[in-house]
Amino acid sequence: MAASEKQSHIASIQGEGFADYRIKPAGERAEYTAIVMLEPFDWRNKRAFGYDMWSNDMRRQAMTRARDTGQASTSGLITLVQETDEDVQAGFLTYVPHYKKGLPLTSVSERRAAFLGWVYAPFRMNNLMRGILGSDGLDVSYKVYDGEVGEASLLFQSERNDTPAVDSQLTPVYKQSSISLQGRKWIIEFENRLGEVDVAESQQPIIIAAAGLIINLLLFYVITSMSLLQKRAEKLAGEMTAELLASRNNLELIVQQRTAALEKERQLLESRVSERTLDLRKEVHQSERLVAALSDSNEELSQFAFAASHDLQEPLRMVVSFTQLIQQTYGDKLDDQGREYLDIAASSALKMRSLINDLLDYARLDQDSERLAEVDCNAIVASVIEGMAAVIDRQKAIITVDQLPLIKGSPVRFNSLIYNLISNALKYCPPDRSPKVYIKLEDMGANWKFIVADDGIGISDEYLEKIFKPFKRLHGHDEFSGTGMGLAICQRIVINMGGKLWAESELGKGSQFIVILPKKID
Ligand code: ADP
Repeated sequence: MAASEKQSHIASIQGEGFADYRIKPAGERAEYTAIVMLEPFDWRNKRAFGYDMWSNDMRRQAMTRARDTGQASTSGLITLVQETDEDVQAGFLTYVPHYKKGLPLTSVSERRAAFLGWVYAPFRMNNLMRGILGSDGLDVSYKVYDGEVGEASLLFQSERNDTPAVDSQLTPVYKQSSISLQGRKWIIEFENRLGEVDVAESQQPIIIAAAGLIINLLLFYVITSMSLLQKRAEKLAGEMTAELLASRNNLELIVQQRTAALEKERQLLESRVSERTLDLRKEVHQSERLVAALSDSNEELSQFAFAASHDLQEPLRMVVSFTQLIQQTYGDKLDDQGREYLDIAASSALKMRSLINDLLDYARLDQDSERLAEVDCNAIVASVIEGMAAVIDRQKAIITVDQLPLIKGSPVRFNSLIYNLISNALKYCPPDRSPKVYIKLEDMGANWKFIVADDGIGISDEYLEKIFKPFKRLHGHDEFSGTGMGLAICQRIVINMGGKLWAESELGKGSQFIVILPKKID
């Protein structure tokens, strides 16, 4: 890895649970390698965990050779980092390069491009030779050198045998052989240890021994690497299969549990949904019945109000006419008290008549379905004002009217709406002042906004909604006359036209009645 990748590499290994992981030896270098997997991961091998073999010349040569040739490559003599202070042995390392699958590996540059890392095996020379030759030893003593003969390159020296001491007078017999081992040359030096023998004769066992040793060494390489590989592969495969099996079983169990839990939840949900649906159906049915009953009773009520007020009109007309007749015919025959009683009866009968008329108007709003027609608001407002000329004159009122639109609706009802609002504006004014009334219009896009504003006595906030209820009045008859039905009638008219009506006011300063009417009425 390049120096820039070092920190993220350390963090990723630490993230796997090795908090103490570092690249050894410390220090800044341009490139790093690190031993990241060791098997077995025992105390001795752990000494090599994180070791940067690239930092060491001898190792780097073999690593480079392995990477560039694609072949297994053996290092020269080294001391393994796994070595402790005891029984220090010469050692060497063998590297096998590992490349990305599927990439071409025919040239050095292709191999470098596809290169991933090395698999390596460390060898301690004494242990290795003991492993190959057993403890029997040969009748010859021998030394193994890496590259050239010399103390510094001595890989191995066979144990000294105690059998017949060699006479120092006799010329010892030497034999040197070399083998080429994965990029290195090993020199094996044999020495005759049998004393007095003919040089020519003594060469023979040495040659045989040398050949045997070399063959042994080569065989060792082939066999150990094969069997090691196989064993590791088998072990790994076994472990992986077991792990896979365990995790598959685990997964199956989890899936089964989750499926069962989900199925339970689904059933629960389904039963809740159907319960709720049933409840809702019942509720809908009930409220439908209620609505039907309510509209029936509303209908009945308004029919009753209509019939009652209609039927009351006739006898009331008689009462009014006859009290007036009594006043005219017998008025002068009564004393003062009698006349006063008669006046009260006559004015009460008149009040009753206007109350019944209003009630009839109100009930009629639901009774007849008037055909929609074009309503010329300017014309209607002008005729209403004209009809009130006497009052306007008496009060010296000023009424200002904006240019008004043509709308769709019932001219009679629009007339009634405007009449009630203007007559209230004139009525609810302090007696010592001349009322000023404005009829304004605002275009709100889909709707028209009519405002009937006055500078009269105003309405306190708590009554702004209540005044629209039938018979609701805020004043006695001695103060302001009225039936309390005017605004209730207005409200019903506006609602029937698909609009809205409300009041805004400041007590003592005046009120505004706001009427919103849709431009298009279906
Ligand atoms: P009424 O026949 O009493 O005028 P309405 O339904 O028209 O009945 O009005 C209900 C009450 O609302 C009135 O008694 C009055 O107290 C109040 N009111 C209506 N219009 C106005 C207004 N322009 N200014 C002040 N108060 C008003």
